[in-house]
Amino acid sequence: MKTISLAIPLYNESEAFPLLRSRLGDLCAQLARTYQVEIVLVDDGSRDDTWAQVMAFAGSDPRVKGIGLSRNFGHQVALLCGYEFATGEAVISLDGDLQDPPEVALAMLERFEEGADVVCGVRRGRSGESIMKRVTAHGFYRLLGWLGDTRAPLDSGDFRLLSRRALDALLRMREKHKYLRGMVGWIGYRTAQVDYDRPARAAGHTKFGWLKMILFATDGIVSFSRFPLRLSFLLCLAAMVPFLGYLLYAFIAAVFFHHELVPGWSSLLLGVVIFGSLNLIALGILGEYVGRMFENVKQRPDYLVMNVTSPDVVPAPRSRS
Ligand code: UDP
Ligand code: MG
Repeated sequence: MKTISLAIPLYNESEAFPLLRSRLGDLCAQLARTYQVEIVLVDDGSRDDTWAQVMAFAGSDPRVKGIGLSRNFGHQVALLCGYEFATGEAVISLDGDLQDPPEVALAMLERFEEGADVVCGVRRGRSGESIMKRVTAHGFYRLLGWLGDTRAPLDSGDFRLLSRRALDALLRMREKHKYLRGMVGWIGYRTAQVDYDRPARAAGHTKFGWLKMILFATDGIVSFSRFPLRLSFLLCLAAMVPFLGYLLYAFIAAVFFHHELVPGWSSLLLGVVIFGSLNLIALGILGEYVGRMFENVKQRPDYLVMNVTSPDVVPAPRSRS
């Protein structure tokens, strides 16, 4: 019988946890005839009693593996940890707030059995989310699709199934600032998708404020596109052409016509301001890339584990094919 892992990151999800637990119970009951199920719960440094609930769940159900991280590392890293500890022949990642309905896993498994290595959950509707989130997410995925070298289906988040070989490939990508949904597009293999409606959170509230979302979006763009680096170059070119023209004009006027453009204060100021801003923008963009190189050179571990629910909860061995 194949083993299927469910990898679930949790950060302060104590309110949603009882609901998650019962929905996972339902799913496991449906899967039990065909698969052995393993539930990998990663507590991403929660400050509420999420870890206690994970412990209790693991105590009553041998299929549950719990990992507690040493602090809050963020959703992508917590999910990565779940991926590293999962031992199944296929791994399904889902959010702990039930915005990724566990039942959709059944449809993903059908695609997997048909031979797909990657099955992305694509959000058909986002009934439970604010207009702002819907509009910005819609725009962002399209912008990234246009700018970047990503091949992931549009509007797919981190609700997906990965076969063992796809997961091993993903885990070989050692970059920091993980943007998993883009990385999954990069690995290739046979990809399928399953559409689903994204409901509102079961309980609790989102851990992604505006700032976190902007930083995450920056990660997506900077990790997958060199366009911003080129953009600053193009902008500088575009601004340089008219100003060089103006310089030439001033030079010719002064040298050949003895007409010094002295009252040129405003144009001078304009030039200084425009070039000053372009310089700063270009530097900022460069800084984003250099900062990421800095993070990568440091070679720190992605996360540290503080607790596990039982001593046999260890990272899965990996094939290197
Ligand atoms: N999460 C996490 N670490 C974080 C933030 C979030 O593990 O630093 C988990 C969270 O518990 C949930 C999932 O990631 O299971 C998605 O987070 P959330 O629902 O807050 O994001 P949203 O759905 O609003 O984008
Ligand atoms: Mg959510």
